[in-house]
Amino acid sequence: MTATGHAATQTLRWSAQDPLLAGLLASTEAGAERLFEVPAARPTGTRIGRIVAGDAWPDELPPLDRLAPVPDLADAERPTTPDAGHVVLFCEETSGKRWPLCIDRPGKPLRWAVDPAAWIRTLLEETYAGELARPLPSRIPLVNYARLPHAVKGLAESLLGQLAGPGPNRPFPELPLDTLADSLRALCARTARVATDRTLWPDGRRAAITLTHDVDTEWILEARNSGLLDEILDAETSLGFRGAWYIVASRVDPIRHERALNTIRDAGHEIGAHGWNHDAKLAYLDESAQERRATRILDRLADLGVEGIRTPWYSRSPELFTVLERHFAYDTSVPSASDLYGTRTHTGCCTVFPYRAAGRLTELPITLPPDTALDGLGGYAMLHRLADEIVAQGGVLVPILHPQPHQSARRGRLEPYFEFLRGVARRWEGELWSATPAEIVRWYTCAVGGA
Ligand SMILES: [Zn+2]
Repeated sequence: MTATGHAATQTLRWSAQDPLLAGLLASTEAGAERLFEVPAARPTGTRIGRIVAGDAWPDELPPLDRLAPVPDLADAERPTTPDAGHVVLFCEETSGKRWPLCIDRPGKPLRWAVDPAAWIRTLLEETYAGELARPLPSRIPLVNYARLPHAVKGLAESLLGQLAGPGPNRPFPELPLDTLADSLRALCARTARVATDRTLWPDGRRAAITLTHDVDTEWILEARNSGLLDEILDAETSLGFRGAWYIVASRVDPIRHERALNTIRDAGHEIGAHGWNHDAKLAYLDESAQERRATRILDRLADLGVEGIRTPWYSRSPELFTVLERHFAYDTSVPSASDLYGTRTHTGCCTVFPYRAAGRLTELPITLPPDTALDGLGGYAMLHRLADEIVAQGGVLVPILHPQPHQSARRGRLEPYFEFLRGVARRWEGELWSATPAEIVRWYTCAVGGA
């Protein structure tokens, strides 16, 4: 960024953004890029407001009219509305009064009332949500919740669900899927006149898919359950799907569970980490304790080719990501939009594409609600509608299966899961790139970042 003559503003070049933030739309037509004039100072916070497309909204994009966390600006910092026809995007107050977030000024840089890249970051980093609510089990001293028998856990989870109540009454993100970050990126790319004709996924595929499994205990890895493990793997791989099995390091014995781990990898899936234990405390430990856990995980799972982690209870914080960055290539613990993750935080990163969580750590968002949340949402049938939306946007389908007996390792739950996979395979035959999360993250960072 370079300072302009005006002390309080700077100009922003969209193609100079972190490519994973700018997304696929980062490449430019040589010499034709339009600059954005943005305030030099970052706003202090956000509040929920309505954003509405103005007359200068690009015709090629579906117009926005929705609630969103809007950067908090003092009255004096809000641009005044120019002559009609030049507003790209408005913020509308509850009183109905509108002020322009982005103004098109012919022959000049677009004027944004806020740096749009910083705005997108507040979505990806979930900073609009304030402090994420802490899951109840992470507050239980001494007891490691993960060691409770399955039947007790099943009961405890439903009790916790009732205790947690309906979650914060926040109108954002939109559930069960929100892609506001992707809408804002597309707007920035379009208004910067950035080329958008690149193909993202291999062989011109429209979207990507990876199947993820949260292996909270060693149950599915035990020899006596090998028949069920084989059945799940067969159902998935016979449709051409692959993915990752995230295992809890302290629960896995690399010798005793060797056959199961080999079977999973031989089927083309990767092994990832699901924490040292499943006690929900990872994000709340101090940095040195987080560092020790990350080291223990990778020591224990050495030789299994672990590249990524899904944190237990999807717990996360910017501080945790800076620790994970030193040990893993990717994390996959942030939902696109959800209030269904035990903590009922009603949060999400609002994108269906990978992005940078910290340094070189790439985040692969969880784009579909997990199996454990589907009862309240109408079952697997509703996932098809979300899958259609994600494929239309060219993003990544990331479903979750919990292969434990109190969750989805039973007939009544597996059949609908298999039926969902068959439906996706039929509907998008030849159009999805199926790969493991590590492969998807690698491909995406190369395709977008040119790394
Ligand atoms: Zn888990």
